[in-house]
Amino acid sequence: MIKLTVKLKTLLDRSEKNMGSGIHPVVKESALEMVKQAYQEGIFVQISAGYRSMEEQAKLYGQGRLGYNYGGKNYSDLSKPKVTNAMPGQSYHNYGLAIDYFIVSDDGKNAIWTVDAKWRRAADIGKSLGFAWGGDWSSFKDYPHLDMTGGLTYSQLKAGTRPKLISKVASDDNVKNTPAKDTGNQTIKSIQRTLKSRYNAKIDVDGYYGPNTKKALIKGFQTELNKQYGAKINLDGIWGPQTKASSPNVREGAKGNITYILQATLYLEGRNPHGIDGIFGNGTEIAVKAFQRAKGISADGIAGENTFAKLFG
Ligand SMILES: [Zn+2]
Repeated sequence: MIKLTVKLKTLLDRSEKNMGSGIHPVVKESALEMVKQAYQEGIFVQISAGYRSMEEQAKLYGQGRLGYNYGGKNYSDLSKPKVTNAMPGQSYHNYGLAIDYFIVSDDGKNAIWTVDAKWRRAADIGKSLGFAWGGDWSSFKDYPHLDMTGGLTYSQLKAGTRPKLISKVASDDNVKNTPAKDTGNQTIKSIQRTLKSRYNAKIDVDGYYGPNTKKALIKGFQTELNKQYGAKINLDGIWGPQTKASSPNVREGAKGNITYILQATLYLEGRNPHGIDGIFGNGTEIAVKAFQRAKGISADGIAGENTFAKLFG
């Protein structure tokens, strides 16, 4: 059976529509870039909301509230539960500076609202593009929410001040004029740099996870198996039976380059080990277990040949 995966264009089109025409251009560009970068990591993100007019906000605020009026109109709707504490003008959505997102199923048909490793990874990508994340708020956590406020308060915005937002998305012009412009994911760049220096990998440090980076990881893994375990594997960067059979069991307490490769690959496969440092601690074990569960293999938190096969195969 052919497995159909949602197309990037579908996610971008839906996201663009959901953000509305009142969205700030830099917020919009950054949101779409977030969808793209997440997609490259196999995480399917869709933007569910962006700009909301004051009337739309009044309608939301009126849900579950008795006798709520705005602009001379009654917006009270007791048939629905309370959804927000933000009155019109008290949400960055009202100024086109905020978006909400969720994860969609691989086939693109269902919204998944579970705040898991993929969800957090999407937030990290958003943050690398200049968004602040509602999941980092100390009091009420708003996990789908990302905004770019430019440091302005609601009252400043209400008074008409608009932020000067600087896009971190590389346009063709940006690339031409400012070669130092930072694009791509910083953690992925750091992994790519390590693969280059440690294993002489011939890859670009571009912050994107593609087939070349994956090959370089496998080659690094093979190098370590030969060095540490006396295996005699061709360093071809291709996952084959010999490499699989030579895979060690890597578990909590392990240290070194194989653990580093494990952590890096987990991260790139959407399971953040919270530290890519070559030290197999609790964060790595949680990430291994989550990955094993997602792949339907025994979730013992020990990376052995089956886990590596799912990571590299
Ligand atoms: Zn929001």
